[in-house]
Amino acid sequence: MAKALRSTRVLTPDGFAAATVVVEEERIAAVQAWDDVPAGAGLHDFGDLVILPGLVDTHVHINEPGRTEWEGFDTATRAAAAGGVTTLVDMPLNCVPETIDVAALEAKRAAANGKAWVDWAAWGGVVRGNADAIEPLVSAGVPGFKCFLIHSGIDGFAWVGEADLRLALKKLQASELPLLVHAEVAGPVDEATRTLNAAHSDWRKYSTYLASRPDAAEIEAISMLIRLTEEFETPIHIVHLASAEALPLLVEARGRGLPITVETCVQYLWFAAEQIPDGATEYKCAPPIRDAANREALWNALERGMIDMVTTDHSPCPPEKKRREEGRWDLAWGGIASLGLALPVLWTAMRRRGVGLERVGEWMAEEPAKLADLAGQKGVIDAGADADLVVFDPDVEWKVTADDLHFRHKISPYLGATLHGRVRETWLRGDLIFRDGKFDGAPRGREQVRA
Ligand SMILES: [Zn+2]
Repeated sequence: MAKALRSTRVLTPDGFAAATVVVEEERIAAVQAWDDVPAGAGLHDFGDLVILPGLVDTHVHINEPGRTEWEGFDTATRAAAAGGVTTLVDMPLNCVPETIDVAALEAKRAAANGKAWVDWAAWGGVVRGNADAIEPLVSAGVPGFKCFLIHSGIDGFAWVGEADLRLALKKLQASELPLLVHAEVAGPVDEATRTLNAAHSDWRKYSTYLASRPDAAEIEAISMLIRLTEEFETPIHIVHLASAEALPLLVEARGRGLPITVETCVQYLWFAAEQIPDGATEYKCAPPIRDAANREALWNALERGMIDMVTTDHSPCPPEKKRREEGRWDLAWGGIASLGLALPVLWTAMRRRGVGLERVGEWMAEEPAKLADLAGQKGVIDAGADADLVVFDPDVEWKVTADDLHFRHKISPYLGATLHGRVRETWLRGDLIFRDGKFDGAPRGREQVRA
């Protein structure tokens, strides 16, 4: 039987409208007038609540198989569902084996089986020496690849220099799949760290950590990536841009038509270095959260379309890895846990800035779906797309407690934050999977394998 979900505020490709979304099987059959409910369809009327497309988060570290005690498919995808994220793309490191060949991809598929509450895909990894694994991974259906230009924190996921990048980009040219790059190079970081250590700087201070990862590391990396994009004419995606100082370079390159896309993360748009307490390693991520003026510049760039999308870079670890009692930024594991909170966090900030909620559709659904080769199928409320829908109350105010976190370890710099807007229901391919804090049914997420 067809279902009809309607409200006075449905986010369609043309903006908010009173509409009825007709769902047949797993897909959206039509988006039509609010009072045009097909005879016999089961009606779910959400009044004045907002209906958004299911969000797509292309930057999540699930860690399973191999480090499931850090985070796994069950807990990560529950957190996603609770936050209105119906598709996530897993990063190829932190799991064991790292997703750097087809055997590892198969191990991931086996690990995910029956545990995913939302749809997912896996990025392949580009590391030193695995150029020959790239084409088989393309054939196995990954939507693209991720690499590091600096130590990743995971010894099994070796960073690549320009020579390795050239090998990988040559292999990627024919596929036209994007290479996602952690854009920091080691030179400026090593140099800054040596200087800080020589001066006996206090590693409990956030200012020491921030100084150890200067803007120059991002700028140098991005300059090289622009040069390689131009040479190889194959798409490159900058993950978690943190330095607004790199924006002029990117604007200029994109202005010349180079296929470079850019994401930033919720933490860079929400926090500022000035507010981060010394020793509070739950805020540690790389690149680091920079100052308030930098945050303002990132917002301006996002609003003006110079940054395409917003992801979480959800990357949790067991509490002991944060070494909170020592509070040393150089020794703590880097990564912020936030899956499930991105929508209310971003919306709270947007509301303060006077930015309309409709842009969430672009930044957190449509653009990331495009990156993951899921345009038209995910991240949009339109005929033919998967019926992934989020019922969102944009006006309710609430405070984040550990009970609201569905990922494995209840550690997050967002604990205690007062937010606006809350996900009431999440629907995956036409089925309710989450309502008012509770999960419905069994995990029925599927891998999205590129055709
Ligand atoms: Zn990451």
